[in-house]
Amino acid sequence: MVEMENVFYSPGEVPVLADVDLCVAGGSCTGVFAAVTAARSGARVALVEVQNRFGGTAVASLVNYWHSLSTLDGSRQIVFGLTQEVIDRLARRDAVELATDNNPSWYARLNTEELAIELDELVRESGVLPFLHTRAVDVLRDDRGALAGIVTAGKGGLGVLRAKYFIDATGDGDLCVAAGVKMWRNATLQPATACARLSCWPQFKRPLGELVHEAAQEFGLPEGDIWGTFLPHSNSYMLAGTKISRTDLSDAAALTAGEMEGRRQLRAIQDIIARAGYTRPVLEALPSLIGIRETRHIHSLHRLKTEDLLSGRRFPDAAARGTYRVDVHSQERAGTRFLYLDGREEFLSPYQPPEQGFWRDPSLPSPEYYEIPLRSLIPPGFDNLIAAGRMIDAEEGAYGAARVMVNLNQIGEAAGAAAVRVLNGGRLIPEQAASAC
Ligand SMILES: Cc1cc2nc3c(=O)[nH]c(=O)nc-3n(C[C@H](O)[C@H](O)[C@H](O)COP(=O)(O)OP(=O)(O)OC[C@H]3O[C@@H](n4cnc5c(N)ncnc54)[C@H](O)[C@@H]3O)c2cc1C
Repeated sequence: MVEMENVFYSPGEVPVLADVDLCVAGGSCTGVFAAVTAARSGARVALVEVQNRFGGTAVASLVNYWHSLSTLDGSRQIVFGLTQEVIDRLARRDAVELATDNNPSWYARLNTEELAIELDELVRESGVLPFLHTRAVDVLRDDRGALAGIVTAGKGGLGVLRAKYFIDATGDGDLCVAAGVKMWRNATLQPATACARLSCWPQFKRPLGELVHEAAQEFGLPEGDIWGTFLPHSNSYMLAGTKISRTDLSDAAALTAGEMEGRRQLRAIQDIIARAGYTRPVLEALPSLIGIRETRHIHSLHRLKTEDLLSGRRFPDAAARGTYRVDVHSQERAGTRFLYLDGREEFLSPYQPPEQGFWRDPSLPSPEYYEIPLRSLIPPGFDNLIAAGRMIDAEEGAYGAARVMVNLNQIGEAAGAAAVRVLNGGRLIPEQAASAC
């Protein structure tokens, strides 16, 4: 981080863009689902998104897999709500493909361009007031020091959205930082990846990972996971093959450098493919935001432990249910470490045979699913602020599982419902959860 000189700047009066019950900053599915849940319960809701459309990592960064909605053995559905509703809505447009086995690596493969339009529809139908191309840059406080509004920067300049309650769904926790929430970082930040969509994707005679491995030094490529998938009913291939390591992309300079380095690596992979004698894949779409796996986390009422998830611990304030494995992209070695709820452990890398074993005695019973508590998203000392998304307070392994979209979708809905509960005079979390904090 570069040390910068400061100058005094006073913007004077700014217009109030809207006066609402709830303001949600950040419009991935997490933020949209929070906003729509609250609006469907009768709240007046504003939703602020800096990109030109909703969808976050799925849409802007082209990441198109959602994971299982069922128990570990696949026998019973445990995730419903807006996740299921959006899958159904996309299915009506042939914009989703579903896995027919109990695949731990994916369940729904989405056309994320269609997802963006579907999220517009959800926002429109529910009466949420949308602000696109608008960034939440600061907070406004009332006389008592409580949060009273969000300062936004949009096409028309600075503005204020006044609200009674706030949900930070910016991924990086921008609103929490502006509000003064204490933040922290995992020592091993998971790397970022610039995905791309390509056509004329070759039929490789050897795994692409091996080709990249052989040319990695020459092309200045860090080694890491390379995976990808075709879009539903399409010849477009989504490639996730680049890696930006050991840097926190919530820093503006690091984000700029990371975006450019991600695109350089994408071109290098195309060059390697062409030099190996294959037709050069045609680059169809770059992400409008590099795929960011992890930046900063909030200090909350409960830091989620890896053990909480792997043991299937139940919480009275459960916000989400999931089965997605602990999935940590290694900074040290090229590959990914997985811990499964059934006791298995794997280290998978495109450059070596899989390492497989057990992190616990596999003959012991496995949990059906785990739960993620709302209190891991509540910063202490704030009466009207919930975080929802990858800024969750979770240690490294727990974060490796909690961070996937089907989990964060539910957390968005739970945050929206909790905000409405409080606006209607109810409790944020049940009494027994509060006393356990
Ligand atoms: C390469 C890669 C592959 C992955 N693969 C999968 C996968 O296969 N399946 C899966 O489920 N998960 C996967 N993940 C993880 C998952 O995609 C993310 O953890 C998840 O999408 C994060 O959701 P979020 O809502 O917390 O944040 P984000 O998706 O980052 O959304 C934050 C939103 O807030 C907006 N925003 C940010 N700052 C501001 C601001 N100040 N004001 C207004 N708006 C703002 C952003 O533009 C964005 O729309 C992957 C992640 C990466 C990077």
